[in-house]
Amino acid sequence: MSQRQSLCILGSTGSVGSNTLDVVARHPDRYEVFALTGAQRVDELAAQCLQWRPRFAAMVQPDAALALAQRLKAEGCPTEVLSGAQALNDLAAHPEVTTVMASIVGAAGLAPCIAAARAGKRLLLANKEALVVGGALFMRAVEEGGATLLPIDSEHSAIFQCLPEDRQTWRARIDHIVLTASGGPFRQRDPATLADITPEQACAHPNWVMGRKISVDSATMMNKALEVIEARWLFGLTPEQIKVVIHPQSIIHSMVVCKDNSVLAQLGTPDMRVPIAYGLSFPERIESGASALDFLSLKALTFEAPERSRFPGFFLAWDALRGPEGSTTVLNAANEEAVAAFLDRQIRFDAIHRVNADVLAAVLPQAQESQSIDGLLSLDQRARQAAKSLMATLSKP
Ligand code: NAD
Ligand code: MG
Repeated sequence: MSQRQSLCILGSTGSVGSNTLDVVARHPDRYEVFALTGAQRVDELAAQCLQWRPRFAAMVQPDAALALAQRLKAEGCPTEVLSGAQALNDLAAHPEVTTVMASIVGAAGLAPCIAAARAGKRLLLANKEALVVGGALFMRAVEEGGATLLPIDSEHSAIFQCLPEDRQTWRARIDHIVLTASGGPFRQRDPATLADITPEQACAHPNWVMGRKISVDSATMMNKALEVIEARWLFGLTPEQIKVVIHPQSIIHSMVVCKDNSVLAQLGTPDMRVPIAYGLSFPERIESGASALDFLSLKALTFEAPERSRFPGFFLAWDALRGPEGSTTVLNAANEEAVAAFLDRQIRFDAIHRVNADVLAAVLPQAQESQSIDGLLSLDQRARQAAKSLMATLSKP
């Protein structure tokens, strides 16, 4: 891209959002910040607006938007503040935006992602739940809108970096892909003690510093389950073509196994600024701020299989992919509710798997629900209700 990209960062106050600003700050000649958004944390978004002076900022909570507008006015910052969920869709599709970083967490990112896709943007996707919920509808919006969908999740960026630019050649080349997983903080924990895990322990990831929801997902390996579903859509694979191996060092970020059994891998230090920089600069490469991999200080790179006794929910990814369309929407909704309840100390850590499995089995998607955003969001709501009813019957931590 020769022209400067004009960025809308959805979820700029989060972990991926702030890493994106870190990369962008290194390349003022290439990127300008047009819009920043957050859910409710006024202090963080105010500080970002004062530094970047974007044309627009949006907060989902009206009270937070009001507080932000007053704060910016008092500081003489010209940024216009919008409020409500619709503002995110409008900014994602704004004619002056070239590039949307989708770094909201959860299904709340679906509508703005689809808006960006339909408007033909360069869409950098960290928000995996949006693709897990949206599935075929999301991919149709990308195609019909002429958008460029670029993966930011480190595993999917790794696969993408291993593949040629021409997507038409992928099907003929790929035998299968291998997503690597760190195994999270409880990889070696006795499965009999999973019930006692606290939110603080679950959020202490050994290799990555991330938001709380994805940290819990890494601890249950539901993050990898969501990534299996994400990979199915991004790369047009069958469920059988997606395999997962635990690689505790997080140095190999994922691999493509070609038809001739040649294996292509992407390696690097675990730093989200690498996939973010690749999404921003593709097909070029720019400096990311990540440190280089020092091969001589690396110890062994090891691999193991995910065990069902420790990570039972992980295997639901394939069940959901083989189920009726909309099953992945149900699984995601159950998991969002279960993780939120666990973080709120309402359910035990090991109950997350139980909620996910039971809700996936109990809530049957209707065919027409997968045809529109409203249909998907009503299915999402049905699954959340089922999860809440079930959780009300479970014993507290
Ligand atoms: P985070 O919790 O740090 O940040 C989430 C952002 O989304 C915040 O800006 C928050 O204000 C905003 N947000 C939350 N709820 C919202 C809502 N209802 N409506 C609008 N905005 C809302 O999360 P994160 O760790 O940065 O993760 C963001 C996404 O990227 C997730 O989907 C995650 O799975 C994915 N991801 C993250 C990492 C990582 O290293 N953190 C790596 C790979 C993928
Ligand atoms: Mg990942």
